Amino acid sequence: MDRNAAATPPGTATAAPPAFHVMAKPAGATCNLNCAYCFFLKKEKLYPGSSSRMSDEVHEAYIRQLFEAHQVPQVTVAWQGGEPTLMGLDFFRRSMELQARYRKPGTQVENTLQTNGILLDDAWCRFLHDNQFLVGLSLDGPRELHDAYRKDKGGQGTFDRVERAARLLQQHQVEFNILSTVNRRNADHPLEVYRYFRDELGAHYLQLIPIVERVNERGETGSQEGNRVTDRSVRPEQWGRFLIAIFDEWVKRDVGRTFVLNFDGALAGWLDMAGTICIFGPTCGTSMALEHTGDLYSCDHFVEPGYLLGNILETPMIQLVASARQRRFGQDKWDTLPRTCRQCEVLHICNGECPKNRFVDTPDGEPGLNYLCEGYKAFFRHADRPMGIMAGLIRQGRLAEDVMRVMATREEVGGTEQPRPARNEPCFCGSGLKFKRCHGK
Ligand code: SF4
Ligand code: SF4
Repeated sequence: MDRNAAATPPGTATAAPPAFHVMAKPAGATCNLNCAYCFFLKKEKLYPGSSSRMSDEVHEAYIRQLFEAHQVPQVTVAWQGGEPTLMGLDFFRRSMELQARYRKPGTQVENTLQTNGILLDDAWCRFLHDNQFLVGLSLDGPRELHDAYRKDKGGQGTFDRVERAARLLQQHQVEFNILSTVNRRNADHPLEVYRYFRDELGAHYLQLIPIVERVNERGETGSQEGNRVTDRSVRPEQWGRFLIAIFDEWVKRDVGRTFVLNFDGALAGWLDMAGTICIFGPTCGTSMALEHTGDLYSCDHFVEPGYLLGNILETPMIQLVASARQRRFGQDKWDTLPRTCRQCEVLHICNGECPKNRFVDTPDGEPGLNYLCEGYKAFFRHADRPMGIMAGLIRQGRLAEDVMRVMATREEVGGTEQPRPARNEPCFCGSGLKFKRCHGK
């Protein structure tokens, strides 16, 4: 890992991106649960007195403008919340009509739905299956770990209802990802969490989301203010240990069978490619959030007055996406990196992660370091060798899962890593090249 900071970011936002991502919140911040760490529940106060339901006018404008603005043949329509299923099935049936009306010929449309699963039943699952939705289901691990924070409005745990939803999705063959937050409670149980998803639930797609809840000077949470965190927030070193423990198990036996978005997104850094998740990109600004009123914000994590781009009933969405303000937002991700990041050996993979987490000082007192830095640095260093092997395999047109055979052959599993080859010896990745011409370069 010897690629230190470049002077300019590898990718810079253009005036009108050919494709972008919008998370639409048809029910605003309204939810039928009361998860302790949810940052979005507090957004209700942005729209006091609102019905928190997307009108048909906003719905139609959103779908029409989204399709008009895309210059690529794939469009994602992303539904999120709050809890979007509170809108009822008829809202989504109407969306299918609107999408059929406004999609350009030859355009492939994928709908995604992020849900807590509580309202899912046979009718929902049939609809989701028939319309090929990709569902994200929020679940934090086995019962005790899930129920620690994911409670209903009566303070009861929700594990049974969410697990039932997962089984229902499986019965109806709906494709789904597990979105698991990683908090101070479950972060000490990485293998328990991972094995529950893999072995008991039979899930093949996972995304791990660190809980970093800032507290401002008034003791409030839910905004991008303050440099303290709640005691529910994962600690940086805990986050690193959590990722490392799961990675070690995954890379030994599950590559190609279980997909962990965090690992896929990080692998892009070893491949010098644009990644699948915005947090590891050098710039951002192409993932916006749309409120039920038609208000478009710079990002789902910045639904705050200072990041309101405008309303799509007044200004076409593409103008808001391409606005100087939004480009500045995306470019700031690179431009505000502290010196510690610019000199960091894993900058090309991490890129300082998400700006929402950059609120601590560097060791030399510069502001803007990522709260999770210690954990990420530990993880990226730890994963360097297997990730390097996977990147080498992919570059040769081979499958990333061959890493398991390569590493087993070299007895690198179980922490018994062999010494690095000499410069003129064959590279450990199986490329057939000398080490000095491959991973030893
Ligand atoms: S602010 Fe964070 S979550 Fe939002 S687009 Fe940028 S990297 Fe992604
Ligand atoms: S946040 Fe930490 S690990 Fe990431 S680039 Fe900055 S210094 Fe490196």
